[in-house]
Amino acid sequence: MKDACRISAEALRAAGEAVKPGISTLEIDTIVRRYIEKQGASPSFLGYGGFPASACISVNNVVIHGIPKATTVLREGDIVSIDVGAFYRGYHGDNAYTFPCGSVSEEAQRLLDTTRASLYEGIKQAVAGNRIGDIGSAVQGYVEARSYSVVRSYVGHGVGAKLHEDPSVPNYGTPGRGVKLLPGMTIAIEPMVNEGTRHTRVLGDNRTVVTVDGKLSAHFEHTIAITPDGPKILTVCE
Ligand code: MG
Repeated sequence: MKDACRISAEALRAAGEAVKPGISTLEIDTIVRRYIEKQGASPSFLGYGGFPASACISVNNVVIHGIPKATTVLREGDIVSIDVGAFYRGYHGDNAYTFPCGSVSEEAQRLLDTTRASLYEGIKQAVAGNRIGDIGSAVQGYVEARSYSVVRSYVGHGVGAKLHEDPSVPNYGTPGRGVKLLPGMTIAIEPMVNEGTRHTRVLGDNRTVVTVDGKLSAHFEHTIAITPDGPKILTVCE
């Protein structure tokens, strides 16, 4: 898991370094695929449910599952959510980060900062003996106190030999409710936070998820392990 997660994190970092005005999301996807394959791993998302690329790249009002395209060219001020997974020696790692393209508006930066911080609020609750609801409640409380909304139609998940495993890890919830967290569990916590309403819709390609009001959305994710010593973030670079 550590190796798969490290490769995922390094591929995401490489993707982030490529984010700049003028690059297409397909070019970023190629960087991701090449990096992962160079490590002897394979991109978790490529072919998953028929997904045609190695990374989901979701720009501005796209929440998740954006398909990389040669015609989607980044512009100054965009926010670019990149979700990357790697499969290595039987296990998956999964992580996401929303990168600013060049300089972004103050409003966009505040959304990024809040979403990223909410992920860490969730991770703090990923402690043995706590329950799934403690994670979701922490994320939701942090986000809603800052007048943003938490996407509910898509959630985090267990991750391991399969990319998506039980339990579901919603970014909303009630403290003390849900599956109990035990040492050895590995889960992906991934708040998706909207500037406006939490409601989303799927475009005609049956994949791309966008905000119904056209406002911005951000997404940050880590794969973490529950350990006797607390949560350990696995998706870190060497
Ligand atoms: Mg995930």
